Amino acid sequence: ATPTALMVGTGRGAQLGILIKGPEVLESTRAVDTVVLDKTGTVTTGRMTLRAVHTARGEDRAEVLRLAGALEHASEHPVARAIAAAAAEEAGPLPSPAQFTALPGLGVRGTVEGREVAVGRDGLLAELAVELPGELAGARAAAEAEGHTAVAVVWDGRARGVLAVADAVKETSAEAVARLRALGLTPILLTGDNRAVAESVAREVGIDEVIAEVMPQDKVDAVERLQAGGRTVAMVGDGVNDAAALARADLGLAMGTGTDAAIEAGDLTLVRGDLRVAADAIRLARRTLGTIK
Ligand code: ADP
Ligand code: MG
Repeated sequence: ATPTALMVGTGRGAQLGILIKGPEVLESTRAVDTVVLDKTGTVTTGRMTLRAVHTARGEDRAEVLRLAGALEHASEHPVARAIAAAAAEEAGPLPSPAQFTALPGLGVRGTVEGREVAVGRDGLLAELAVELPGELAGARAAAEAEGHTAVAVVWDGRARGVLAVADAVKETSAEAVARLRALGLTPILLTGDNRAVAESVAREVGIDEVIAEVMPQDKVDAVERLQAGGRTVAMVGDGVNDAAALARADLGLAMGTGTDAAIEAGDLTLVRGDLRVAADAIRLARRTLGTIK
């Protein structure tokens, strides 16, 4: 394409709500055949709320929430925000943890009021060598089957409760997936979240392929494996966790509503965080490079 055509394409992109790093980005956009979509914050709103608290026999609901909330208050993760907000509302003022460690893709751990507290997924329980008692394992399975993300609350070596959180699929996501398909692209959902949750979201928006339970540092490998299989991959994401995969993809699309790390790593930014615009971006690139050549 001529430099003029590319400049026109870039200008048209701005009108559509697409910020394009450089005119050459349109070249890589044209060949894309697969679109990998991050789940939380990209296909879903990323604003999670607490849906249920399940306690182990003999444990107190408010205490489970209070200690979990104290720890999660120090984390930025959407799961953490949901738990901290509900805890502050229901369990009163939250103590500050004396120690705090975030374990990306797993959960959080630290010391609260002299207790060793942890909140997180099955991988964190395995690391702590803590097992869920039967009643909590059942509650977790039921929550996940409903499409909720379930995390366990542990202190002093015992699982005390399971918290179920969930966010909503964005209103525009199903239409966005349909538009991507209409362009002949294969959508794939990629997430660190549990498989049952991922499949429930995928079903709701019309995606058939799901790559779930992927650790943050492994998202980039998922993209590379698709590329090694001969696909030309666009990745859409919003989180710090998505930055490496956005950079590695043939085309990285960052949600403008997401983190700076994602925006810096992407080739394109969807300014309003509207996933439908991802399809507009690919159509624009094809038009710019196809018709004016
Ligand atoms: P996603 O790809 O959906 O953004 P992440 O890789 O950030 O997911 O997290 C994967 C899973 O790890 C979450 O679904 C949750 O089970 C667990 N997790 C991550 N951070 C936290 C946290 N702060 N508190 C509790 N659980 C967490
Ligand atoms: Mg995300």
